Amino acid sequence: MRRWLKKGTVEMTESFADISAAIIENLSILADGCRIHPAYRAKRKATGNCAPCMRMYEARLALNALEGEPEKS
Ligand SMILES: [Zn+2]
Repeated sequence: MRRWLKKGTVEMTESFADISAAIIENLSILADGCRIHPAYRAKRKATGNCAPCMRMYEARLALNALEGEPEKS
């Protein structure tokens, strides 16, 4: 669900700016990737104790939440 659409016009505009900035930030984290695990694309939960991979997975989750997960609607 895109909850921010339910807000007022002004708030919605601000939310879109915030969301856009957050999406760009998370996308850049994913684009940077992990030097140790270049094959990891954060499709699955990061295993082990690799900080860049865990950061990427958190970015992936945040992107899913920001963009709205493909749910039945
Ligand atoms: Zn890694």
